[in-house]
Amino acid sequence: MTKNINIDNNYKIKIVQNPNEINEYVIDVSELNIKNIIKEKSIIFKIDFSNIQNIKYKKILRKLLKLKKRLYKKNVFIGKEDGTKILIAYILNYSENDTKQNDFILAINAIFYKTKADMYSYIYDTVCDYLDSFFYGKNLCDFKNNRCGEKRKTNSPSSVGCCHHYKNKLLGPLIPHNLVLCEHLKQDYTCGAKCIGCKLFTCDYLEKKGIKFRIKDILLLDVFFNPLQKYFIKTMVFTPKEKIIKRLLLL
Ligand code: SF4
Ligand code: SF4
Repeated sequence: MTKNINIDNNYKIKIVQNPNEINEYVIDVSELNIKNIIKEKSIIFKIDFSNIQNIKYKKILRKLLKLKKRLYKKNVFIGKEDGTKILIAYILNYSENDTKQNDFILAINAIFYKTKADMYSYIYDTVCDYLDSFFYGKNLCDFKNNRCGEKRKTNSPSSVGCCHHYKNKLLGPLIPHNLVLCEHLKQDYTCGAKCIGCKLFTCDYLEKKGIKFRIKDILLLDVFFNPLQKYFIKTMVFTPKEKIIKRLLLL
């Protein structure tokens, strides 16, 4: 039985078991030729995971994003109506437990947002959800009496982990006990800012446990942002989502 993967913006991808189930002209995402494709009136893609090596994902996705922008400008319709949704691609040799393939599909979802702001917001939320779910219910920071594993090793007066910053950022480290709680920390010790920079941060304590997040290992961040944007994603800590997205859109 044919299954669909519903993605955002009313699009869908059809999972097929056999290439014979595809009865129309499709363009293989691993062989994109922008010049030829923009001559078509409408197009549907084929994603065959048996033909795409993981290391090629980034290149293909960037090319697809570039192509989508060109097709919109040329009024080439992507997909076709299929029930209440628009079918944009057929997918072959897909394994639903393959996290790399699923990351590729999340990136396809990102590409088909209409505006850059919406696309960035989707990527941001998806990555934050991933990072939250990684930590959820595991107490990886080994909190005991509101002090995490890292802070228990030191004389630091701080509790509630790393949600502190220096009041005066210029003189801060020189003034003892100048640490203040982050203004975004809620009473239940959750973050009210949805700050991706903070979520990506891992201290020595976590790194010794083998937990480290690198932007280049997170496909959605690696594909769609340039080096300067990646720098800000990593370093804009203590900052709410809206402010970060606004900055990324300027770069
Ligand atoms: S990341 Fe490190 S410093 Fe921050 S709460 Fe966890 S153990 Fe503590
Ligand atoms: S913005 Fe960062 S420091 Fe502030 S509460 Fe959220 S995670 Fe903690």
